Amino acid sequence: MGKKISIVVSVYNEELGLQQFYDHTTPILQKASQDTGWDYQLIFVNDGSRDGSLDLLKEFASQDEKVAVVNFAANRGHEAAMIAGIDYADGDGIVCMDADLQHPPEAIPGIIEKFNQGYDVISMIRTARADAGIFKRITSAAFYVVMNKLSGKTKFENNSSDFFAISARVAKVLRQDYRERVRFLRGYVQNVGFKKTTLEFEAQARVAGESNYNIKSLVKLSLNAICNFSDAPLKMGIYAGLLSIFAAVILLIYSIVQYFLGTAPDGYSTIIVVLCVMFGVLFIILGFISEYLAIIFAEVKSRPIYVLDSIITKDGEELK
Ligand code: UDP
Ligand code: MG
Repeated sequence: MGKKISIVVSVYNEELGLQQFYDHTTPILQKASQDTGWDYQLIFVNDGSRDGSLDLLKEFASQDEKVAVVNFAANRGHEAAMIAGIDYADGDGIVCMDADLQHPPEAIPGIIEKFNQGYDVISMIRTARADAGIFKRITSAAFYVVMNKLSGKTKFENNSSDFFAISARVAKVLRQDYRERVRFLRGYVQNVGFKKTTLEFEAQARVAGESNYNIKSLVKLSLNAICNFSDAPLKMGIYAGLLSIFAAVILLIYSIVQYFLGTAPDGYSTIIVVLCVMFGVLFIILGFISEYLAIIFAEVKSRPIYVLDSIITKDGEELK
């Protein structure tokens, strides 16, 4: 039996660029299929789009037997969409990519070659970002520095992206053992183990529409990632406490000396400063504890990562 590659594409309000994505990607996949002997499957995960994306996807599926649409009942976010695609995919290799052509499908033949060489995890590394301003570049670089400092043994590839490929056995591990509600999929993929490699790609500008990630969702993603892979923030309280005690001792000695010199200062400003610093530290720590509590809460509730509405293929629509 020949091998098969599954392409998982997450779609949220992408009606402006989807046709272009499909028209651009299909011939590349067909050619790759001829050249490498790997069959392909194109899985679109519709993450509760509110525009005409679903109608377009249905159209692709109705004329193309290679296309399957995994249709969510509601928006669950990019990671949930990738997870659903991985759950549905039955290829020997699975590639996750964006629907806006920022992840060039031209890279797919290279990915297949890596699979043929026996690799299980292929991280796609951005070399340039056509769309990102200086702010996004700096924050994203800072994120990886902080992540790698905090997470101990677990290491994250700088400039990795939601463009990656995994073998069927990695997918099996993700399906069975990585079902957390709060997660950092990219981090899991890079740290499950197996034989890993990287490929470079140049991120293109979006073909159409706007990025769905705003500052707020990026902050949330980063916080989740940090709290999920590191318990360092939880331990911050100990160091902050030690530091405060140290500062308090210095202040105490200083005050006693001043008292005996007869130049005891007016204590008002000291009190205010100390109070502000202490409360600041306290609330930051409290915030972090709440963050972990929220994660535990989400896990304990154990709601599904996504809810399916239907699966659509050329054979028709199967309601879930
Ligand atoms: N996406 C999704 N669900 C969401 C938000 C985004 O499936 O709630 C998809 C989106 O359609 C795109 C990919 O995730 O294919 C990446 O999103 P986007 O391009 O907005 O992010 P950026 O590339 O700017 O980081
Ligand atoms: Mg994008």
